[in-house]
Amino acid sequence: MGRFRSVLLAQADDLISLVYPRLCLACRQPLLRNEKHLCMLCRYDLPETGYHEDTGNRVARHFWGRVRLEAAASLYSFGSGSKVQKLIHALKYENRPEIGDMLGAYYGLQLRKSAPYSSARLIVPVPLHPLKEHRRGYNQAARFARGLSETMGIRAGTRALERINFTETQTRKNRQQRWENVRSVFRVKDAGQIRDTRILLVDDVVTTGSTLEACARALLDAGARGVTVATIACAAHL
Ligand SMILES: [Zn+2]
Repeated sequence: MGRFRSVLLAQADDLISLVYPRLCLACRQPLLRNEKHLCMLCRYDLPETGYHEDTGNRVARHFWGRVRLEAAASLYSFGSGSKVQKLIHALKYENRPEIGDMLGAYYGLQLRKSAPYSSARLIVPVPLHPLKEHRRGYNQAARFARGLSETMGIRAGTRALERINFTETQTRKNRQQRWENVRSVFRVKDAGQIRDTRILLVDDVVTTGSTLEACARALLDAGARGVTVATIACAAHL
């Protein structure tokens, strides 16, 4: 691109930003020209857990005695009203699927150096119900999987699992009831793709863990050689 043209484009960019300021997805302050999605401050300020380097971390322990996982970790921990929660909200409800790509690509740079994660041969996102995915236009977990796939060099099987029922609203149920509610809902679509394969199962957040537990069981029942779990964030009160 010619220098003159790139100067013009940069000026046009500034002009557009004046009218429609691009905002940081975490703190909602205007972004500088060289910043993308997140401002510099938030980028360094978001609370990374480092859990992928700690096999006995809070997320992994959350699944002990429930389902056999090789390892489990989340990039961030979040409390209510936090910057991470705003980021997740934008990813799920404000039509910003590119946040999933970005955080996946970023987390992949860490996970590819960590053995239980990097030895996976297929990245499988938790599926949304098809109607919900249609309404939203994308599955945020699949976008996260795509980002991870890019920097880890591992194939993403975004249709490997399917969700076959509606679940009733979960808000008034305890953990046991939620589990009953979600149990039969996930199914492996192509067992040949899963059998004898190490799977990295991914989702946006871990709260109760019952969805991830159900998906991991479906994968193990279909003959997966092992399942590791990675999510963007975990609830601070897990
Ligand atoms: Zn910010």
